Amino acid sequence: MPNMLTLALVVPCYNEEEIFPQTAVKLAQKIRALQSARLVSKKSKVVFVDDGSQDKTWELIAEQHRRCPQIFSGIKLSKNRGHQNALLCGLLTVKDSCDAVISIDADMQDDITVIDGMVRQFLAGCEIVYGVRNNRQTDGLFKKITAQAFYKLMSLLGVQTIYNHADFRLMGRRALDALAEYGEVNLFLRGIIPLLGYKTGVEYYTRAKRLAGTSKYPFYKMLNFALEGITSLSIKPIRLITLLGILLLLVSLAMIVWSIYRYFSGHTIVGWASLAVSLWAIGGLIIFSIGVIGEYIGKIYLETKQRPRYIIEKLLNK
Ligand code: UDP
Ligand code: MG
Repeated sequence: MPNMLTLALVVPCYNEEEIFPQTAVKLAQKIRALQSARLVSKKSKVVFVDDGSQDKTWELIAEQHRRCPQIFSGIKLSKNRGHQNALLCGLLTVKDSCDAVISIDADMQDDITVIDGMVRQFLAGCEIVYGVRNNRQTDGLFKKITAQAFYKLMSLLGVQTIYNHADFRLMGRRALDALAEYGEVNLFLRGIIPLLGYKTGVEYYTRAKRLAGTSKYPFYKMLNFALEGITSLSIKPIRLITLLGILLLLVSLAMIVWSIYRYFSGHTIVGWASLAVSLWAIGGLIIFSIGVIGEYIGKIYLETKQRPRYIIEKLLNK
């Protein structure tokens, strides 16, 4: 078949030496199975992006590439740039050599059996196919609650995200070309992809536990990521501050009217406590508000620099 689809699986890896050998075997099997089923072409491959790992991840990637260059490629970033940048680097580097790309984590938490369905939906005309989790049974209670709160908050702030979808998704070349036009340095892919438009599809799957190793997203990184998502896609927090300011002004106005009324009706005002409390409350609000505004100014500062989002140190490709 001359026009068979060429697929690339893009896998960001950060300190994944424990899990890497199993992941490589599984993904290679998947590619071969898709090829046997005549769903994808012989040029289809697995592209690992080493996000500046400090362990043996890159050596393992290079070894796989040596053993089987037609299936495995590798990209080594010059330093750790975080999951989103590593992923973007993989997507943009491979986009011209394939028809569709599926991004997937190295820990095999995402069910690779739905890849077939993703490919079929792409062949049926979907430009983007989202992998969406059926449930969050494999998450701890804390992760469940914070994740739910995050999706709710994002939609309240007017940022469109796909509920329970992380970064396991198929994107066609056209979607990737569109993504390449988004030059932002503060990157939150989950919020940008729905902005691209095109016909989309969904594949549901059950998310497994990590095969080995530990999560590379400790709490502070998760919090950072959530803040990034909000401040890079929504300016509603700044609006809310303005509204809050107006509200406070109205309250103080009412207080003045009230005090005048009390004065003329012959009551003296004792209220030291209320004064002190409001002083602190307002002080706190002001500092908080300055902080939020500063957060956005910081973002603008970083965006205007237009620094590269990643730097490739080495590229292993057939
Ligand atoms: N990852 C990365 N750079 C980082 C952190 C993570 O490339 O700075 C990769 C990691 O190797 C994995 C994926 O991003 O393939 C998701 O990370 P992880 O599974 O640790 O996140 P969790 O599933 O716990 O949210
Ligand atoms: Mg994981």
